[in-house]
Amino acid sequence: MQVWSFASGSDGNCYLLESEGTAVLVECGRPYTQIIDFLAATGIEPDTLSGILLTHAHGDHSRSARYFSQEHGVPIYASIGTLGALQLQNPKLGRPVQSGKTYQVGQMDLKPFAVPHDCREPLGFRFESGTGRAGIATDLGWVPPNVAKQFRDLDLLVPEANYDPHLLETGTYPHFLKRRVSGAYGHLSNAAAAEAIAVCGDRAPHVVWLAHLSEQNNSQKHALQTVARVLRRHGLSRVSIRTTHHRRSNLRWTSNVARERQLPLFA
Ligand SMILES: [Zn+2]
Ligand SMILES: [Zn+2]
Repeated sequence: MQVWSFASGSDGNCYLLESEGTAVLVECGRPYTQIIDFLAATGIEPDTLSGILLTHAHGDHSRSARYFSQEHGVPIYASIGTLGALQLQNPKLGRPVQSGKTYQVGQMDLKPFAVPHDCREPLGFRFESGTGRAGIATDLGWVPPNVAKQFRDLDLLVPEANYDPHLLETGTYPHFLKRRVSGAYGHLSNAAAAEAIAVCGDRAPHVVWLAHLSEQNNSQKHALQTVARVLRRHGLSRVSIRTTHHRRSNLRWTSNVARERQLPLFA
């Protein structure tokens, strides 16, 4: 399994996930031409994608989904709430998914789970295949037990680490926006993301990409330091932590499960 972070934050989110020949875009929130450029750099053709997976309909996640889907005939997997907001020209390209069920997308299992966010039926996603397990959950106000459970036993977790409470409090956001961000249907703080990883204990993910960092209310340094400190306190220094970039492709992860499986072939 391979995952790329193309972009992450309130100016647009987009990730690519590939496993055993199945490739999907997760989120499609950057301008269309940029997503095409991102894909070109990976060598994956847009027409060969098995799906565009959207967690929710906010523009920073869904902006180019409708056009991309129509242009390349790629189906959109999302909740009914998200699909309703997209108003697809060709409804046949919509694939409604529900929290708690498992869907086969090519060679991958897709397991959507409900998250608390101020949008209709927002989801997080868990992916499992013969070569790895990855999870993505950004845009959630807190981590309820059904979500915390999905963070266990992953090779790669991409959680949101949106804000540092002190930077948010002393920053320039108007009061109502500060309340929205830190509310139960807003975004996760660095410490809340860290705690959600820490409660996994022995079953914590091997690699964590902190995503959807606010440009006003967070910094890479704040996110990394806070999360590393909490994980260290819980004896989880082994977890490798990186941060995504707002507008460019900066991270690529390859599961070592495939390599472990392949080893006997060369022995
Ligand atoms: Zn967002
Ligand atoms: Zn959102």
